[in-house]
Amino acid sequence: MNPRTIPEDIIQQIRERADIVETVSAYLRLNKAGQNFKGLCPFHSEKTPSFTVSPSRQMFHCFGCGTGGDIFSFVMKIDGESFASAVRQIADRVGIQVPSVGMRQERDETGQRRETLLQLNDAATEFFETSLWNSSLGKKGMEYLHARGMQEETIRTFRLGFARPSWDALAQAMRTKGWTDADLVDAGIAIPRESQEGKQRTGVYDRFRDRIIFPISDLQGRVIGFGGRVLDDTQPKYLNSPETLLFHKSRQLYAMEKARTEATRRNALMVVEGYFDVISLHQAGIRNVVATLGTALTSSHLPLIQRFSKNLKLVFDPDSAGIRAALRTAATEMLDLFAGRGISVDVVTLPDQRDPDTVVREGGAMAFDQLVDGAETLIDFVIRHSLSQATDQSIEAQVKNLDAVLAIISRTSDSYQSLYLKQIAERLGIDEHVLRTQHRGASEKTSTPARHAHKMAGPPPSPQSGKAEEMLLQLIIQDKVSPEWLDDLQASEFVHRDYQELFTWVQAMPEDEHITSAKHFIAFGEQNPEYESLISRLALRPLECEEHDIERAVRECVSHIRARNLDDQFSERTRQMRIAEREGRPAEDMHTQLEALRQAKSAYAQQSG
Ligand SMILES: [Zn+2]
Repeated sequence: MNPRTIPEDIIQQIRERADIVETVSAYLRLNKAGQNFKGLCPFHSEKTPSFTVSPSRQMFHCFGCGTGGDIFSFVMKIDGESFASAVRQIADRVGIQVPSVGMRQERDETGQRRETLLQLNDAATEFFETSLWNSSLGKKGMEYLHARGMQEETIRTFRLGFARPSWDALAQAMRTKGWTDADLVDAGIAIPRESQEGKQRTGVYDRFRDRIIFPISDLQGRVIGFGGRVLDDTQPKYLNSPETLLFHKSRQLYAMEKARTEATRRNALMVVEGYFDVISLHQAGIRNVVATLGTALTSSHLPLIQRFSKNLKLVFDPDSAGIRAALRTAATEMLDLFAGRGISVDVVTLPDQRDPDTVVREGGAMAFDQLVDGAETLIDFVIRHSLSQATDQSIEAQVKNLDAVLAIISRTSDSYQSLYLKQIAERLGIDEHVLRTQHRGASEKTSTPARHAHKMAGPPPSPQSGKAEEMLLQLIIQDKVSPEWLDDLQASEFVHRDYQELFTWVQAMPEDEHITSAKHFIAFGEQNPEYESLISRLALRPLECEEHDIERAVRECVSHIRARNLDDQFSERTRQMRIAEREGRPAEDMHTQLEALRQAKSAYAQQSG
């Protein structure tokens, strides 16, 4: 059971005012399909949409991987939120106040700690902003930002700030606001002082000093960490928050919360190398842009990326370390991973000595768009880059490089393989047949790693008996059933545990609302998450019978369930009778009972066709 720390009537209000289609649309592209909407599932990789959202039932279900539920569980699953914070997030969006008492009572301790650190990060961000805008020390920070072409509105939008050249300006300010040293350390903004040469030292000092501060936010725009850049040539040029409860640099991306809408709309997400590049491009109106948090792009970023777009564009400055890192990664995992997920990856190469920042400043958004239009696929890029390096190297190095490229090519589909081999042959002036022979050698050495089979949350066991129970519940959840058709069916008559649970819930509903609507099941699913997928599947799956035929279908299901029950009783009685006879006990009574059962059974068998 989820801890329900928020009053039920408020949850109900939020549910009524929020719209699941609107909420889901913020994460993925949905298209109208009959009464429902369909899109590519964000929870598993697929090429044809099986992710279905129903505006009338306010539920979603993926018929590919079985993930399903209501608006709250969608937000919980996609943003990794607790139930309470998913409710609060949606409440915020629809303008409903959730009493803060619920917040303090949140039983989930980690959730509470996260909340504390988020509040601290926000306070720290404000402090950095104030230092930039209002302090005399911040003047040089502001001058630096202006010199980099940052407009004031942009500085405010990205909440850029300044860390003073002091050992504890931030720590002191936060302490006076009631935060403890432990809070500061856990948030990653302060570092504990270490004892040195026998001198016992206590307390903490600021992690970020004399730097421009880039707050890094989660998808809801809450600050989870910071990046800091020096104003001169001091090393390290960039410094990021360490891993904390909130900040995971290998999974998160800078400015994703600002890029998400545009990435979905344009169906492309661009990854650049620096925070300033992101900001300059956003300022120029190109908003589907993010940056990694000082790490290479890896498989850990994929869950976040593929929520918003299947088309990734990597923007590289040709001389940078980024390219070399990309090549290394590309060869080992990038191609494999991206191709396996159906994500297409293009590489945008910038002119010499230019970064996105200088390109838009000199030529505007148009100049940058032109570069994007000229992007090449990742594999083209890898081939071109490896081979252009090869020409000025020793023969051995060239052969080694070629082998590496061939190994990469062997991971692509057959039709691409021959295309690439042809290109390489032309580029190197080698006979294509010679290359093919070598390619065969290379591909034998590298076997493609097996892709993880996606674990399917399959349908519950449904042999014949389960089928009637399932169909009956589907009709009930879809509001098609009149109570009298059920002929006083009891939950105890169900064989399958899951259906029995659901039917118990039906019976527990208030008399006047007895068997009315899917909304009762939404609440049930929230309290029993293990049933969410089953409920959403039954709620959104198309009916197998015609509207005018529903009463007959319901009555048939009931008869079928009863006949099956009698079958079980019949077998049980027969077994008991045999035992009694073997042990020489009188079995007269049992014969009579058995005969009664036989008759009842045949009556039901006739009814259920
Ligand atoms: Zn799915």
